[in-house]
Amino acid sequence: MKKPAAQYFFGTFMHTPALDQLEILHDTLISVDAAGTIASVLTPDEPGYRESLNAAKTHRHFTSVNDNGFYLPGLVDTHIHAPQWPQLRKALHLPLESWLMDCTFPLESKYQNNAFATAMYTSLVDTLLANGTTSAVYFATVHRRATEILAELCVEKGQRAWVGRVAMDDQQQCPDYYRDATTDQGLRDSDDSVNTIRQLAGNESQRVKPILTPRFIPSCTDEMLAGLGALAKQHSCSIQTHCSESDWQHHYVIDRTGLRDTEALDKFGLLTRTTVLAHANFINHSDMKIIKNHNAGISHCPLSNQYFAGCVFPLREALNLGIHVGLGTDISGGPGASQFESCRHAISASRMLESGVNANLEVHKRGVTDSQISYIEAFYLATTGGGVMLDEPIGLFKEGYAFDALHIDTTAIDSNLMFFPEIDSHEDLFQKTLYAATRADIAAVWVNGAVVSCQRGI
Ligand SMILES: [Zn+2]
Repeated sequence: MKKPAAQYFFGTFMHTPALDQLEILHDTLISVDAAGTIASVLTPDEPGYRESLNAAKTHRHFTSVNDNGFYLPGLVDTHIHAPQWPQLRKALHLPLESWLMDCTFPLESKYQNNAFATAMYTSLVDTLLANGTTSAVYFATVHRRATEILAELCVEKGQRAWVGRVAMDDQQQCPDYYRDATTDQGLRDSDDSVNTIRQLAGNESQRVKPILTPRFIPSCTDEMLAGLGALAKQHSCSIQTHCSESDWQHHYVIDRTGLRDTEALDKFGLLTRTTVLAHANFINHSDMKIIKNHNAGISHCPLSNQYFAGCVFPLREALNLGIHVGLGTDISGGPGASQFESCRHAISASRMLESGVNANLEVHKRGVTDSQISYIEAFYLATTGGGVMLDEPIGLFKEGYAFDALHIDTTAIDSNLMFFPEIDSHEDLFQKTLYAATRADIAAVWVNGAVVSCQRGI
């Protein structure tokens, strides 16, 4: 039985129910129950529409944006390094090793200071919410307390989040000042972190979830990887890690384990239905089949890959195989904090992959045919696709889904959208939004029906 509506939303809703399908729902009434779940989606052609709309208009909680914009589903960012937030848009001129050893590890080690963690994570969560990121999948640091602080802030500020204490215990690959003291201690800390996040006050609905987080194979011992695989099974907990991101990582894993990254992760029990593999640029067809067999997912981070991967993820091939794919900013490996930017870069990267980039090669040898994705597909990956990968009912305006939404205000005075209703269709408006929207265009953001960011009155 449907729960009674706690609030109503009216106007134009745009979303992507399938990879290549944009659906535009005009003059639509969505009722949301007290838990923040969509109870019904009523379009003008449905029986009882007029009566329901008239009744809803008299409701205390009736929100209409029909005259000044439209609603989009909340954006799902599937790969964020939360502690790297103050490093966003810095150090990108450095080679990877220097970026990691001279900048990133020293910065991440600072999160043993809880006051520093609180200040940085407050700025991070507030800013991402204002940019429309309603769901975030976070790598935290090795520090148990700082990881909990991030989870607490997500609970308090209303963001949907997966928060992972980073496990990294390999003494050869991790600096002494920033790694798990021992394998056993690291496993205990990850175990405790899962329990603590699940039991946080205010998190009874489990909107904020733990996620087990081996940084990547090179930074973890075999014992750590196997231990985390066992914890994932014991706790029925999601997993995230990096997979075949760069030439170096890909070959390091083969040299150490004799296996390809996906094979090794599989062996350690780290490939599950809700595993998020960041990047996966160097995976081949057999890796894809392994990922598909587990129905695990890939977080495609196109902007970060331009800086640190040295190749373009074979997105179309993965999609053709039915692999779950979401988009990620990879803060701060990529200099963007908005999933709209991730969409733009996913499109650009796919087109570069298709056309190729070296003009000295003959046209037919330059690129990989059938690689490009459309703006509709990019938006699907940033919303619906992320939800599918995480096995969470988010990313769509559909009965039973969480009401996670953005109000895009087409009348914002500081906007770059340039929407001309005289000649622009709503599909044009959707495309322009995908290519131009910034936080200035996002008037309000809801997660589970609750306002979590609001720049202008609603
Ligand atoms: Zn990463």
